Amino acid sequence: MNIASKIKSEGQQPTNERPLFTSLETAPVRPEIAAILAEALAGQEISERQAILLFQAEGADIQAVASCADTLRQRSVGDRASFVITRNINFTNICYMGCKFCGFARPKNAADAELLSMQEIARRAQEAVDKGATEVCIQGGLHPDLPVDQYRNILLAIKKQVPQLHIHAFSPFEIMFGAKNAKLSYRDFIQDLIDCGLGSMPGTAAEILDVEIRQQLTRDKLTTGQWQEIISTAHQLGLPTTATIMYGHIDGPAHWAAHIGLLREMQKKHRGFTEFVPLGFVHYESPLYTDRKKLKLDVRPGPTATENILMHAVARIMLNGWIDNIQASWVKLGPDYAVQMLRAGANDLGGTLINETITRSSGGVHGEEILPEDMVKMIERSGLRAYRRNTLYRPLQHFVPSDQLIACSAGAA
Ligand code: SF4
Repeated sequence: MNIASKIKSEGQQPTNERPLFTSLETAPVRPEIAAILAEALAGQEISERQAILLFQAEGADIQAVASCADTLRQRSVGDRASFVITRNINFTNICYMGCKFCGFARPKNAADAELLSMQEIARRAQEAVDKGATEVCIQGGLHPDLPVDQYRNILLAIKKQVPQLHIHAFSPFEIMFGAKNAKLSYRDFIQDLIDCGLGSMPGTAAEILDVEIRQQLTRDKLTTGQWQEIISTAHQLGLPTTATIMYGHIDGPAHWAAHIGLLREMQKKHRGFTEFVPLGFVHYESPLYTDRKKLKLDVRPGPTATENILMHAVARIMLNGWIDNIQASWVKLGPDYAVQMLRAGANDLGGTLINETITRSSGGVHGEEILPEDMVKMIERSGLRAYRRNTLYRPLQHFVPSDQLIACSAGAA
């Protein structure tokens, strides 16, 4: 069965066939929803309990929540949205962890198992720069025989080849694994990576920061507390990170509100998050979904269209004043649908992502690369102005609707 027929047989529409709002809602917004949105627009902080109500919005409430998020986006970052030219380098897909949602990992003896050499990693980084990239994003599986100095050697190899390139690398789980192998504290391990050229860290491996849900998703993966500790240590050392959530599987509104609430509290302490990235669960080839009967888990086939809208919108509302950048992942949502999130709270489309393999390995259907000019067109379709940024949201190039490029005084990455 091909992916398109698979999508239809499981009741989901390909995302590019789904409009954000299919009809003009005429029913009034529920008073309790309207009251929360009025508080948010007045600059008050929305509690987790209020966020749960927003996540449960229906009918006209959904449009009201999205409109409120759109207004807050406009107030925070103006009428513009961004993207970054980046390349993913997944240096190994060998991993012994066995997370149930993961379609990327391979055992060591699998025919398609790979571990890239340092020369190949450096070559790919050079190729990325030649294509205009200002960033490489590097993550891999937890290879049981990985040399102790693998992570620092990757950074040194890239910096030797292309010193100006920003390296966004290593999930908190890889940091935990690497620090344990090197017999170093998180602080010392991360500081050494910074000294070797690490520029920022992805806040992946968060999935849902809830003890029970995490236990079911991935029993032996790092705990919520360990994720927090590693990310907080990075922030204390001045290393920025992103923040993510993976939603639409065995989770629900209470978990989402608590997850975003936790990120908000962490941001209040160290201000280290650059962006929040909602990542919808991609179910097609994910063992969590394909083996759900055997696992005795009630697993959903990814988020619904409404849940996608509300995740971006409620995140904008909850994080207002704390995390300015909400990213819509075109890899997970599809380009057309990601564009619609730009009017529901998001202000960034993420990376052009040359060589995206993690989502594709779970059956993601939206390809592995988008050209910068297509990113610009996507942003313009939302009615916003496009700019190209570096990893830390510094503008590098502004665009006007005529496609005429305006050099930006902000300069290089
Ligand atoms: S999610 Fe990461 S740690 Fe878990 S199995 Fe996949 S590659 Fe390994």
